[in-house]
Amino acid sequence: MASSSSQSRQEESGLSEEDYDLIHGSESGWVDARTSCNHLSSLSAADLTHIPTPNTPCNTCQHPTENWLCLSCKEVLCGRFVNRHMLHHFRQTNHSVALSFSDLSVWCFSCDAYLDAQVIHQLRPVHQLAYILKFNQPPPLRPS
Ligand SMILES: [Zn+2]
Ligand SMILES: [Zn+2]
Ligand SMILES: [Zn+2]
Repeated sequence: MASSSSQSRQEESGLSEEDYDLIHGSESGWVDARTSCNHLSSLSAADLTHIPTPNTPCNTCQHPTENWLCLSCKEVLCGRFVNRHMLHHFRQTNHSVALSFSDLSVWCFSCDAYLDAQVIHQLRPVHQLAYILKFNQPPPLRPS
């Protein structure tokens, strides 16, 4: 993880990555994201090179915002601040991993945690695709 040759932020500040995140990171949305998840196997069943657009309404209640894309079957369902249809979907199908169309974060219901879509290679393509559909440009690359 930590680079030894370049001048990383940790070396400049003398802080470990964890210290840095504790002090600076709370607004980034990536701080608590896991970099691995054991529930990604069902993703391969879905063709994630074609996904619904981020303005797709909830399949169940037609709510227009706060929706999530199931990365196992590509169903679009609303989140916990609406009618929790994605949570119901997880309980019915055990499809664990969903991508938020609001902020493009990826959540695993089984891990009960956010997943880092730029680190986990199975998630990176669909995260990039969703980002392009939402913003009409590729996501900015984070320095490693
Ligand atoms: Zn709904
Ligand atoms: Zn599903
Ligand atoms: Zn998981």
